[in-house]
This record gives sequence, C-alpha cells and structure tokens, in this order.
Amino acid sequence: MNYKNITVAGSGVLGSQIAFQTAFHGFQVSVYDINDEALDQAKERIEKLKPRYQKDLNATQEQVDEAQNRLSFYSDLAEAVKEADLVIEAVPEVVPIKTEFYNKLGDVAPEKTIFASNSSTLLPSQFADATGRPEKFLALHFANEIWLNNTAEVMKHAGTDMNVFDEVLDFAKAIGMVALPLHKEQPGYILNSLLVPLLDAAEILLVRGVADVETIDKTWMIATGAPKGPFAILDVVGITTAYNIVKAKAEATGNDELKQLANLLKTEYIDKGKLGTATGEGFYTY
Ligand code: NAD
Repeated sequence: MNYKNITVAGSGVLGSQIAFQTAFHGFQVSVYDINDEALDQAKERIEKLKPRYQKDLNATQEQVDEAQNRLSFYSDLAEAVKEADLVIEAVPEVVPIKTEFYNKLGDVAPEKTIFASNSSTLLPSQFADATGRPEKFLALHFANEIWLNNTAEVMKHAGTDMNVFDEVLDFAKAIGMVALPLHKEQPGYILNSLLVPLLDAAEILLVRGVADVETIDKTWMIATGAPKGPFAILDVVGITTAYNIVKAKAEATGNDELKQLANLLKTEYIDKGKLGTATGEGFYTY
C-alpha cells in the first residue's frame, strides 16, 4: 500500500466514521471541515465511536486511543491536504457545494493526490472537470456504521486511470472494507440498484392492497432465505427517507398510486411518530 496520509473532507456523520476507521487501521488522517465548530462536533462524534469499536469489534482501549491519536484536525484546506496521498470527500450532498469544494481542492492539493467521493447519489463524472485531475478521481462509497456494514463500492468514471482504481480498491481493503469494484458509472451503485426496486415493489403491493406488511416480508424471507423482508429494511432506512423518495417520484411522474403511497406513509406512519427502528416503531414495533 503506497498511501500513508489520508485526508477526510467533511467530518459529519460519514466523514467522522471514515476518518476513525482509517486511523484505526494505522493511517495518519487529517480531518478537514469548514470551521472549528464543525470540527468540535466531529471530535464529539469520534469520542462516541470509540466505545462502539470496543463493543462491536472487541477493540482495546489502547487501540481506540491510538487511532484517535492518529487524527489531526484542520479548517484550512491547504494545510489539511499538504501531505495527502488520498482525499476522501464527504461534504454535503449538494452539487454547488461539492463543485466549489473540488475547484478549491484541485488548486491546493499536491499533484500526486488522489480524490475520492463518498457521494451516495451523484456521479463522479459530474465533478471530474472541477477536480482538474479527472484521471485521479473516482467514487469510494461507504455505508453508514462503516465498521459493521463494511462495504466499499469503488466506482470509476470513464476518465479514471485504471491504476488509480486498483490502488483505491487496495486502500479500501487496507482499512478493513470489503472492496467492491464497479467498472462503470451506475446511479445507486450496486446496492441501491438492487435494493430500491425491491423496496418500491413491496410498497406498491401494500398500497394496492394485494397483501399486508408481514405477508410480503414473510414471502421474501422464506423464498430467498433473506434475514429481513423489505418492510423490515424500510424500518432501518427510516420511513422519512422512504417518504421523501416516494413523494419526489410521485411529483415527478404524477402517478396516482405513488401519491396514495406517499399519503399512506405520511398519515399512518410519519404523523404518528412511527419513523422506523430509530423511534422504536415503524412497520414493526421494536
Ligand atoms: P453531514 O451533513 O452529516 O456532514 C457533512 C459535513 O460536511 C458537515 O460536517 C459540514 O460541516 C461539512 N461541510 C459543509 N460544507 C463543507 C465544505 N464546503 N467543505 C467541507 N466540509 C463541508 O453529511 P453525511 O451524512 O456525512 O454525508 C456526507 C456525504 O456522504 C454525502 O455525499 C452523502 O451522500 C454521503 N453518504 C452519506 C451516508 C449516510 O448514511 N449519512 C452514507 C453513505 C454516503
């Protein structure tokens, strides 16, 4: 592994997790965010991650303390990336924010530095020009609770150098991930390309009155051996996220069934505080 110094830009929910996971696996990590307040929040998030690593991964106090000591914090981008072999970007999922970030980053980062985006829904080709180094840019997508749900979807855009692609796959393995190569751009990567149609189909069966929640889940679980059915998965994702997606699709298409579904999610679940596992109740009670 050629990489030693990693910078994580954006230290929110995912950025903090990526930074700590990377430090836990022995890399020096610079954490960048827009101001000291955001960095203080990141420090708090990281403090809370330490007991999770101890409980979930049987990490020792010494291991989590050493990981924390490998982190340094910056609100000056040029300083944060001065030594970076790789910058992992986890700034908000807003096109103008990411574009501006890559414009600045391209100017201040050393020539050798590789850039990887953790974006869930935006494609790397959208920012390739802004980086000023499209051949050294790709997507590296993690899942929430990275230390447990350790998939890393590594996705090229048409201009990504093959050596860079291979290096980032190796890096993902080096920080304890299962590295998943995607050779072409795909909105939703592999996971959401599979999962979203399944969840959509389950919700449509429900709103059409074909079968109830338990029957739909039971069918999927028994027939495929899956540990959870689509509605149990929706409870983990959160009903608010499911509602936002359905509502946007209903508005974009004018489809009556989707409007009915959005209404069902709002009146029967969201308005009643049933938001999924996070609130102890959604389609199921926990
Ligand atoms: P978040 O809102 O928790 O964190 C975003 C962070 O970026 C904040 O700390 C914010 O201060 C910082 N920020 C804002 N503007 C910035 C700028 N110009 N430069 C640098 N930092 C800036 O968001 P998140 O949930 O961590 O998501 C970040 C990225 O990760 C998004 O692209 C999202 O699609 C992706 N992602 C999120 C999840 C998830 O479950 N939350 C999972 C996979 C991928």
